[in-house]
Amino acid sequence: MITVRELAQIFKRDGFAKLAEPMAAHTSFRMGGPADLYVLPANADEAAGALRVCARESVPAFLLGGGTNILVSDSGIRGVVVDMSRLTGIRADGTLVAAQAGTPVSEVAEFALAHGFSGLEFAFALPGSMGGAVWMNARCYGAECSDVLEYVDCLGPDLQVRRYLMNRADWSYKRSPFQDGRHVILEAGLRLAPGERSAMEKLMRSHRSDREGKGHFLHPCAGSIFKNNRAFGAPTGQLIDSLGLNGTRIGGAQVAPFHGNIFINTGNARAADMRALIELVEREVRTRLGLELEREVILVGDWD
Ligand SMILES: Cc1cc2nc3c(=O)[nH]c(=O)nc-3n(C[C@H](O)[C@H](O)[C@H](O)COP(=O)(O)OP(=O)(O)OC[C@H]3O[C@@H](n4cnc5c(N)ncnc54)[C@H](O)[C@@H]3O)c2cc1C
Repeated sequence: MITVRELAQIFKRDGFAKLAEPMAAHTSFRMGGPADLYVLPANADEAAGALRVCARESVPAFLLGGGTNILVSDSGIRGVVVDMSRLTGIRADGTLVAAQAGTPVSEVAEFALAHGFSGLEFAFALPGSMGGAVWMNARCYGAECSDVLEYVDCLGPDLQVRRYLMNRADWSYKRSPFQDGRHVILEAGLRLAPGERSAMEKLMRSHRSDREGKGHFLHPCAGSIFKNNRAFGAPTGQLIDSLGLNGTRIGGAQVAPFHGNIFINTGNARAADMRALIELVEREVRTRLGLELEREVILVGDWD
């Protein structure tokens, strides 16, 4: 089997690979050990080329968007991390807005505003990339990514480009058909509608202020740790708060004193602390409320 160093030599010819790149630099949690090999393709062809080499050499590859919904282990990620953040670009064809996967989703919302297209206001100030938002079917303020998706261009399991056409049956709360891990999202086509710019702008500003008021940007975090579940009768953050768990700490990881479903890195947290804290809250909610929380944050890498 090929070694990571040998693999790095193949990629080094293109000059875009780094050995032992700390993932803490690429996640909103600011935690996570090294990726064996980290590559930063400039375009879809380079991304496909890197993934083809990984497939040929049977080396696992992890696709990194904005790194805003993942918890990477302290020992890092074995194999190759393909960072999609340079695949950026937005264009409009009538009210169809096409955004490349690495484009920050909030920038796509600003582009839509500048063109007077409504439908993406919810995504303004939402951290992460367009690709990550599609993968997660990101949702907030009563709307979700799938509400406006018309198509997704992706690499299929054979690493050939194909177009997925929106089919509502494939989507639900925080679920997308791309979560099977067999596709690489390259571009999202979003069908928007003419809107009234000042009203849109007002709404977008109010979303940003709401996030600021809720402390989203005060500390390194990954947004909500757990999904909400209507059947539980209250948002997950309220349930956790009701058990007096806000402020609970393990090492440098803490349940935010101001929000039960946001866990923060107070500065020197290890990913193991964060995982232990997640498991503690899961246990408490299970034993005291009889409810099984579902994680929204994704644990990535080499965990014991
Ligand atoms: C302060 C804060 C607030 C947040 N608020 C919300 C919120 O209101 N609503 C919400 O839904 N989320 C929220 N989140 C979580 C996060 O912003 C979203 O889930 C976001 O859509 C993740 O995108 P990303 O690019 O960071 O994905 P990443 O975290 O990088 O990746 C998430 C998953 O998507 C996969 N992926 C990423 N890009 C691709 C691609 N191009 N092709 C295939 N797979 C890919 C990754 O492999 C991984 O499995 C918040 C996060 C933070 C830090």
